[in-house]
Amino acid sequence: MNNEEKLIELADLIFPDITETIADLEKRYPKRDLEEGAEVTRFAPSPTGFLHIGGLFGSLIDMKVANQSKGKFILRIEDTDRKREVENGVIELITQMRAFNIINDEGLVSETEALGEYGPYKQSEREYIYKVCAKELIKKGRVYPCFCTAEDLDKLRESQEKAKQIPGYYGQYARCRNYSVDEAIERIKNNKEYILRFRSLGSHLRKVKINDIIRGKIEMAQNDQDIVVIKSDGLPTYHFAHAVDDHFMRVTTAVRGEEWIPSSALHMELFEALGFEQVKYAHTPTIMKNDNGSKRKLSKRKDPESAVSFFIEEGYPADSVIEYLLTIINSDYELWRKANKTANWRDFEVKLNKLNSSGALFDMIKLTDVSKEVISRLSSTELLELVLEWAKIYDTNLYNLLNEDLEYTKKVFAIERDNATKIRKDFAKYKDILPNTFYMYNRLYREDINSGFNFDSSKLDINSVKEILEGYIGIHSDSLSKEDWFNKVKEMAEKLGYCTNMKEYKQNPDDFKGSIADVTGVIRVALTNRQNTPDIYAIMQVLGEKETIDRLKNALSMKGE
Ligand code: GLU
Repeated sequence: MNNEEKLIELADLIFPDITETIADLEKRYPKRDLEEGAEVTRFAPSPTGFLHIGGLFGSLIDMKVANQSKGKFILRIEDTDRKREVENGVIELITQMRAFNIINDEGLVSETEALGEYGPYKQSEREYIYKVCAKELIKKGRVYPCFCTAEDLDKLRESQEKAKQIPGYYGQYARCRNYSVDEAIERIKNNKEYILRFRSLGSHLRKVKINDIIRGKIEMAQNDQDIVVIKSDGLPTYHFAHAVDDHFMRVTTAVRGEEWIPSSALHMELFEALGFEQVKYAHTPTIMKNDNGSKRKLSKRKDPESAVSFFIEEGYPADSVIEYLLTIINSDYELWRKANKTANWRDFEVKLNKLNSSGALFDMIKLTDVSKEVISRLSSTELLELVLEWAKIYDTNLYNLLNEDLEYTKKVFAIERDNATKIRKDFAKYKDILPNTFYMYNRLYREDINSGFNFDSSKLDINSVKEILEGYIGIHSDSLSKEDWFNKVKEMAEKLGYCTNMKEYKQNPDDFKGSIADVTGVIRVALTNRQNTPDIYAIMQVLGEKETIDRLKNALSMKGE
């Protein structure tokens, strides 16, 4: 028997049931019939049920790149590490992705169902495909059984450490690569346990160049490690599965975290050995956080914002998080947004080659600003719908309150919103709504004033407050236009000795008791118990004449005691 025949014997001994070849798989998973330039991308998380903000960032890039090129975006589940799996991990993940409108065209759509012709899309169900590929590499002498025990490998590591050698299973240290095929066959027949390793032909003394769409050419040492391709549980390692899956799913660009850059030389060699066309790479930056002046990775343990569920629970609109991530992906997003105020973020074209490769900083303050803008663009109906949907799950008290009188709530939500000249920007998340509108609800307003009114005593004394309230109660009318109403307030303010021209007031503040802003400020606090609110005319219009007068009189009496 020549060596080739012996290798076939070895391959048949290891995989007796596998009769198909890579050529058969090439036919089963043919090249996709897509438009020129169409990109096929994939998001490939482990089913831990936890979607990290970095995962959302990556999957957003995947979806945009696929959608904007009329390609396909796949969700593939990488469940070869059975220890990391949790129950319902897939559906949890899909639910969280959908909450941010990240929708895949292909791959898993529920715990067990998938769309597309290139499946299965769960790695644990692709064992057969990996075996076909591994068997073929055994026949070519590029994959071999390794009989080293965990103990052997520990010893190897220790000796390498001592000798200050590069750690790993390679070259002279790769003991099992030197067994003859006959020896390997004999060991297997003697029931020795083994795993399968790749036989690398590389040398770390030579260089290779990896093409990265984001970073350009990256030079690194060739791979020389005989990495494990199939583990003792029969499942592949990430490296082998990456090559096999991305090839047979006909992925064009693998968007993945920068932590995979050092493995790219190995992946190149695997693609070559398998006879596959190289996939393109886009290694995305890790999402970092500024922690007292130094950048560090977002930690699952320390930073609640590392989990996308945090943003859902806090009540950030999905679009806010997505738009903020887009500003990190492409720094020209903000300019685009300014020029396209009413456009949907889906219309923005993500450019991978413009992605900033040096650490993406996640800044909650910036997110807050973006979110305020996003919410300010919503009509009252849109906002109310989103808030109700959220509150139903995360804040039943708010949900019940808003529903007590939905018609009234609609008016509350319309304050400084629909067609207003000035749109309120005091909501960054749904949780901000109650603290900034509670006073529109009589019961909450009354609870709040129980602990006293928040008049600014540094500006006006009690008597002046009382004088203003009295004066205003005398002129209040619900039926005036805003202009007429304001003229009346000014007239009253002047009579009481307040300046109605802010410029004039600033020049000679001592000539007056105060300014018109102080006067409206008193009315504002009496009505809302807050010093900053949207326009009080609009607030009074919604409260109605009776409630307005009640509140003012009540404030007056409390202050008069
Ligand atoms: N399951 C891998 C991870 O979560 C996927 C990496 C990749 O996208 O290739 O890191």
